[in-house]
Amino acid sequence: MESIWSKTCKLEQRSALRGQIQTEAVVIGAGMAGILTAYQLERAGIRTVVLEAGRIGGGQTKNTTAKITSQHGLFCHKFIEKKGKTIAGMYVRANQSAVEEYKRLIQEEKIECDFEETSSYVYSKDERKLKEEAEAAEELGVLASYAKHIEIPVDCAGAVRFEHQAQFHPLKFISALADKLTVYENTRVQKAENNMVITDSGTVKADKIIFATHYPFVNFPGMYFLRMHQQRSYVLAVENGQKLEGMYIGDGPDSLSFRQYGQYTLIGGGSHRTGDNKAGGKYAALRRAANGFYPQNREAACWSAQDCITGDSIPFIGRYSSSRPNWFVASGFKKWGMTSSMVSAMILRDIICGAENSYANVFSPARFSAEELLQIIKDGGKSVSGLAKRFFHIPLDTVNTLRPDHGSVVRADGKKAGVYKSWENKVYKVDNVCSHLGCQLEWNPDEKTWDCPCHGSCFDHNGKLKEGPAQQEIS
Ligand SMILES: Cc1cc2nc3c(=O)[nH]c(=O)nc-3n(C[C@H](O)[C@H](O)[C@H](O)COP(=O)(O)OP(=O)(O)OC[C@H]3O[C@@H](n4cnc5c(N)ncnc54)[C@H](O)[C@@H]3O)c2cc1C
Repeated sequence: MESIWSKTCKLEQRSALRGQIQTEAVVIGAGMAGILTAYQLERAGIRTVVLEAGRIGGGQTKNTTAKITSQHGLFCHKFIEKKGKTIAGMYVRANQSAVEEYKRLIQEEKIECDFEETSSYVYSKDERKLKEEAEAAEELGVLASYAKHIEIPVDCAGAVRFEHQAQFHPLKFISALADKLTVYENTRVQKAENNMVITDSGTVKADKIIFATHYPFVNFPGMYFLRMHQQRSYVLAVENGQKLEGMYIGDGPDSLSFRQYGQYTLIGGGSHRTGDNKAGGKYAALRRAANGFYPQNREAACWSAQDCITGDSIPFIGRYSSSRPNWFVASGFKKWGMTSSMVSAMILRDIICGAENSYANVFSPARFSAEELLQIIKDGGKSVSGLAKRFFHIPLDTVNTLRPDHGSVVRADGKKAGVYKSWENKVYKVDNVCSHLGCQLEWNPDEKTWDCPCHGSCFDHNGKLKEGPAQQEIS
C-alpha cells in the first residue's frame, strides 16, 4: 500500500551516521516537522544535522493528504468558547502565517512541488453550526464565509470556506528542502542524554536536541505518552473522479476528506483510535463511497496514516521538559501537520535563537488545563484496559480456527500469541505485547498490522516496527 506521493516521487538515499560528530543542533526525525525545523535553524545560522531512523519523509509525511490550511475542522467557535478569543485568534493566526511561510519559502527557493493556492472547506449537514463557525472565523480575522453550494457530491447544508489556503506534493517539497541540509538516514536514535544523542552507528553532541519523531519516544521526562493518543485514517486516490477546485473535509467522526492532485481525486476517511479497528472494512467503505460518487472511477492507490491528538487539541511545540532546557519537541498535530510543522519550525527557531515569538505560549507543552485532565483520564482508562487485557483476556481463537488472511490473539501451546494466517495458510506468530509499555496489541485487518490501543505503536505481521512511540520490534 503505497501513497500517491511515494508512487510519484523517489528520494535519493542518504548515508547513515558513522562515528562521532559535534554540532549546534540535532533534529531527530526527518518528517515534515524535522526537515522544516532544521531548515529554519540553518537559515538562522545554527549548524544543524538531522538523524532519521528510516527514510526522509518516510513516516506519516509520505501518507498525508497534504492540504496546507489553517482551517482545522469547525474549530473557531469551539476554541472561542473553550479557550477564549485571544488564544483562538493566536492559534488560527499562527497557522495562517504557516500557510504564508510555505508560499514565501517555495517561491524563494523555487521549489517545484505542485503547489497550488486554493480555498478549503468544511462541510456539514448542520446549517446553524456552519453559519456560527463562519461568523466566529471572521471574528478571529479569517477570510471566511458560509457557502450554500459546494462542488462535491455529498449530502450537506453547505460549508465554511477559508480563502488563500493551499495544497502540494509533500515529498517533492521535503526532498527539495532536504537537499539543502545534512541528513543521515537509517540512523535510529536509541537514547538521548543531556547534550548527547546515541545511535547504533555513532553519536552526536549538540547544544540543542529537537525531537521531531512524530510521537516523542523518551517517556521520562515529558510523559507525553499520558498526554496524547493516536488516530488512524485511510485514503484512496482515484482516476475518473472529479476535477476539484477546492479542498474539503466533513465535520464529525465519520466524515470524508477530498482534494485533487493532477488526475487523481483523493478521498479520505474511516478515522478510528489506533488499535480499535478489529472489524476492519475501512478501505471497503471508502471504495463504496468512491463508487457511489464516481461510478467510473479507477483506483490508483490506497494508504493510511495516523496522527497524535493532544488533550486540548493544540500541538505540543516548545521545551521538552523543564528538567531538560536544551531539549525541544514538536508533536500532537491532530492530522493538521502541514501547517503545524511550519508553526513548530518557526517557534522552535525563535526559542533557540532567543527571539520573541508571540505564539510560543499557546503551543507550549508546559501548559495544562482541565480539558486536558479530562482527556488524560479517558486515555488513561484505555491504557489500563490495554494492559489489563494482556493479563486477563482469554482468547477464544486457536491457530486452527483462524481463517486465511485473518489475524487474531490466539491460544497456542498453552500461551497467548498474536497470529496472522496468510491466504496460503502460512502462520506468522508474534508475542503481541507492545515493546513500548507492554499493552496487548490488536490486529488491524485493513493494514495487516498489530496496533497498540494504548499509545498507537504499530508492527507488521512479522513483528517489525512500523510506527512509534515503540522503538523496538516485537519477537
Ligand atoms: C490520513 C491522514 C491525512 C492527513 N492529511 C493532512 C493534511 O491534508 N494536511 C495536514 O496539515 N496534515 C495532514 N495530516 C497530518 C500530517 O500528515 C502529519 O501531522 C505530519 O505528516 C506529521 O509529520 P511529522 O514530521 O511530525 O511526523 P513523521 O512524518 O512521521 O516524521 C517523524 C520521523 O521521525 C522518525 N523517527 C522516529 N523515531 C526516531 C528515532 N528514534 N530516531 C530517528 N528518527 C526517528 C520517523 O522514522 C519519521 O520519519 C494527515 C494525517 C493523516 C493520518
